Amino acid sequence: MSQCNSIKPQESNGSLSYLHQDKMQWRDTANKRYNKADKENTTLLIGGLTILQDKLMMASLQSLGEKYIALPNPDFDSFRKGKIYGNRGQCNPTYFTVGNLVKYLQDLRAETGMSSQEIVDKYAYVTAGGCGPCRFGMYITEYRKALKDAGFDGFRVFSFQHNEGIFQAEDGEGESLKFSPMFFITLIKAVIIGDIINLLTYKMRPYEVVKGATDEAVAECYEIIADAFKEHRNLTYAMYKCRKVLEKVDLDRLQPKAKVMIMGEFWAAMTEGEGNYNLHRFLESEGAECIPQPIINRLMLTIWEAEYIDNKVADLEVDESVKRFDFTHAKGKLNMALARVAIKFYFNLYAKAIGLNDYDVPDIEKLSKLSRVYYPLDAEGGEGHLEVAHLLESIKHKLAHLVISVKPFGCMPSSAVSDGIQPLITARYPSANFLSIETSGEGAANFYSRVQMALFKAKQAAKEEFDVLKIPEHIPARVNDYKFQPRHGATGTAARLVESIS
Ligand code: SF4
Repeated sequence: MSQCNSIKPQESNGSLSYLHQDKMQWRDTANKRYNKADKENTTLLIGGLTILQDKLMMASLQSLGEKYIALPNPDFDSFRKGKIYGNRGQCNPTYFTVGNLVKYLQDLRAETGMSSQEIVDKYAYVTAGGCGPCRFGMYITEYRKALKDAGFDGFRVFSFQHNEGIFQAEDGEGESLKFSPMFFITLIKAVIIGDIINLLTYKMRPYEVVKGATDEAVAECYEIIADAFKEHRNLTYAMYKCRKVLEKVDLDRLQPKAKVMIMGEFWAAMTEGEGNYNLHRFLESEGAECIPQPIINRLMLTIWEAEYIDNKVADLEVDESVKRFDFTHAKGKLNMALARVAIKFYFNLYAKAIGLNDYDVPDIEKLSKLSRVYYPLDAEGGEGHLEVAHLLESIKHKLAHLVISVKPFGCMPSSAVSDGIQPLITARYPSANFLSIETSGEGAANFYSRVQMALFKAKQAAKEEFDVLKIPEHIPARVNDYKFQPRHGATGTAARLVESIS
């Protein structure tokens, strides 16, 4: 990558100045050795998913005997640091996540009195990488550039390839941090459990009788799961114990609330903080119920993309006489198929144990069939065809009163490709209530105002759907049991519950 380093940012007492330097070619540097001694002396930093998932990842990976710390949730200050030290023209997940690491290290330096070199020697960052057609492929370099300019030259950033499954190639001659299959299995279990608890949280919190009761119960669930990871206890049983905790939250679910599906670019839609102006909490405060996009959707898409490309390559005309059995290729295929089966198995197992009964792991092949008329499946990057598929699925199966597609400012796959296609879908399905909205890290008032306008229509739809129903005189107790989740019927939770008991 070539880069102009002629202006170097300098922060001092909260103010910013720029040092002009000679232009020079950017050279990406390899990580320093990571050997047995490093394992004992290095703290590995992770982060970038939902608040619960970051904490669960930390607890689960600590169970493997290494020191992991989850970074705090990125905020506007992280974004500001990302803008100061990052390249121009990046997408805002880069600014938030890169800036968050810089901010953490600067705070660490200020609080502990450690020198920058000590921090470089004692800490490293672990993240997902990958060769993407969008800016995702450049993230590692962005981390290194920002860290260097912030005074942490040589800070180690290790990445595992998000599209290479659990048997990853080693970097160099065993000098890099090794990501064992156990690392991935543990990580994926933490992500799946986090997804399940998050899905339940969003189903329960809008209907809680005592404000804050759901968050308190979820905090207790986190302790149960974290202990189970650390003490290598049965996770299914731990999820069952969480069921008992969640059952204590009093709910009043016969309130007609607009159901809002939040999808879009992976990070912007998933993050729970200033990265999307706290969209989920904002919607709940405005009287809505959110349907979040679990991380496993992205995992399943990654597996589907790998298999899709593989099948396309296999279809290419090859001279039969030169065709040979390729062991590495066969292992890769098996790897992907096993990952797909394992994710489904563990998701269903843990979901049953805690009482999530109406959510299925997405069938990406089915979704691709739904969207391929509109979206060329060969166009990779970001969420690929999923954004278009989610909107179509929501319209056809009446999943939500409003679908919000959140994307960082200037995101290529989401803003430029998917959003170029969505108007055709909304023109063909005029009943769709769809809002595509960008998060630039600034301009919250405009963001909230647009969400409120779309939500107004959604709330009306939820109320109308509920008002035409006849409420039975006797309301069975199961209506307010979070585990009672009828799969079919009206869109809104309240209306669907009334239909199911009438
Ligand atoms: S999908 Fe969009 S926001 Fe995400 S890394 Fe790619 S360009 Fe950036």
